Amino acid sequence: MEREFSAGGVLVRTIRGRAMVAAIRPRGKDRVWALPKGHIDAGESAAETAMREVREETGVEGRLVEKLGDIRYVYTANWEGRKGERIFKVVSFFLLRAVQGRIGEIDEAMRVEVAEARWLPLAEAPRSLSYDGERKMAAKALERLGA
Ligand code: ATP
Repeated sequence: MEREFSAGGVLVRTIRGRAMVAAIRPRGKDRVWALPKGHIDAGESAAETAMREVREETGVEGRLVEKLGDIRYVYTANWEGRKGERIFKVVSFFLLRAVQGRIGEIDEAMRVEVAEARWLPLAEAPRSLSYDGERKMAAKALERLGA
């Protein structure tokens, strides 16, 4: 089976005393709330990818805290040429602390992929995120932060 490797971030910041996490709504999946992530480019470490993708998809710069873990899933390709092919995917997630930038202030080109980026309460993220693996990463971040 074809394999794919991505990396992403659980980007946190405190707003009025409350721990928040950056989540995105991927374009074309209007009810999905997901963590920012993307393909690991050649020559990039997974942590570098996570920080780059978080910045590109949310508009917020993060500082690396630690690795949280890997999630795995299988999905079916639906793009031209590979329709129906099963793909095994591994995504490494990192805990990041927001350093600067305003959420949602992203490049015009990025809006093709991201419909919306928003701070969600971290305590609720193990329920409000759409994918099970990402919910587990949010739960790990909560544990790590003692929040
Ligand atoms: P990337 O953000 O890594 O560049 P992508 O946008 O090309 O990736 P995915 O987000 O992996 O692709 O989405 C491919 C398919 O897998 C979609 O149908 C999506 O709904 C599904 N998917 C995405 N994340 C998960 C997950 N954590 N668990 C299960 N299925 C997922």
